[in-house]
Amino acid sequence: MLDDVEGLKEVWDKGKAVHCMFCHGYENRDKKLAQLGLNPMVVHVLGGIGTLSKDVTVLTNEPVGASDPKVMDAVKSLGFSIIEGKVESTKLTHDDDKVEIAVKDAGKTTFDVLLWTPSTTVSEGVRPLLDNLGLQVKSGSMPINEYVEPINPMGKTSVPGVFVAGDIQTPMKSVSMALASGSIAGAFAHFDFGHL
Ligand SMILES: Cc1cc2nc3c(=O)[nH]c(=O)nc-3n(C[C@H](O)[C@H](O)[C@H](O)COP(=O)(O)OP(=O)(O)OC[C@H]3O[C@@H](n4cnc5c(N)ncnc54)[C@H](O)[C@@H]3O)c2cc1C
Repeated sequence: MLDDVEGLKEVWDKGKAVHCMFCHGYENRDKKLAQLGLNPMVVHVLGGIGTLSKDVTVLTNEPVGASDPKVMDAVKSLGFSIIEGKVESTKLTHDDDKVEIAVKDAGKTTFDVLLWTPSTTVSEGVRPLLDNLGLQVKSGSMPINEYVEPINPMGKTSVPGVFVAGDIQTPMKSVSMALASGSIAGAFAHFDFGHL
């Protein structure tokens, strides 16, 4: 996925691309931010970013005219700018301090940080296991965000004896959620097995 945009891997490796403004927001407050990609979920996330930075530009990364006008209006109503067009490349400036982004027919613009939320999918190693168990993989909204929904808050699934914990059990993936769900699922799986 990092290879989809030229240079993104290098920018990511240097910490100049971040996947979540709520995880990396304090360090990047009041900076000049570029959001890579536009979809309704982006509008939802950007709605909470105004307290961290007022200088946000959304790069649609789609051909000019291809983006949903309603979603574009929603971004503008938040007071943020939009640059339409496919992103051709991202590049660190010579001191690794900023990111220069080239957009087709819109030239180059330099930003402090690039926001980019990758899709999170069930790994190819785990998918056959879920299929064999008969567990259904759901997908959250854009970008693709796969998970197996538990049928109760203890991580129990629709398949008897199978519990889910961690990233796999929620579209909102974070360390604290993973820890909490693991703690609960572990305990209740233990009780459950006692009744098998
Ligand atoms: C770039 C990035 C930045 C993030 N930043 C933050 C942040 O700032 N704050 C925050 O709260 N969260 C952050 N997260 C999310 C956080 O990392 C995850 O929510 C958390 O690590 C999930 O824990 P987990 O134990 O469920 O899964 P993981 O940490 O993914 O652990 C799963 C483990 O299972 C192993 N595994 C997979 N398949 C198999 C198999 N078939 N057999 C054996 N082992 C297997 C994997 O190798 C891995 O070690 C970030 C995630 C990413 C990708």
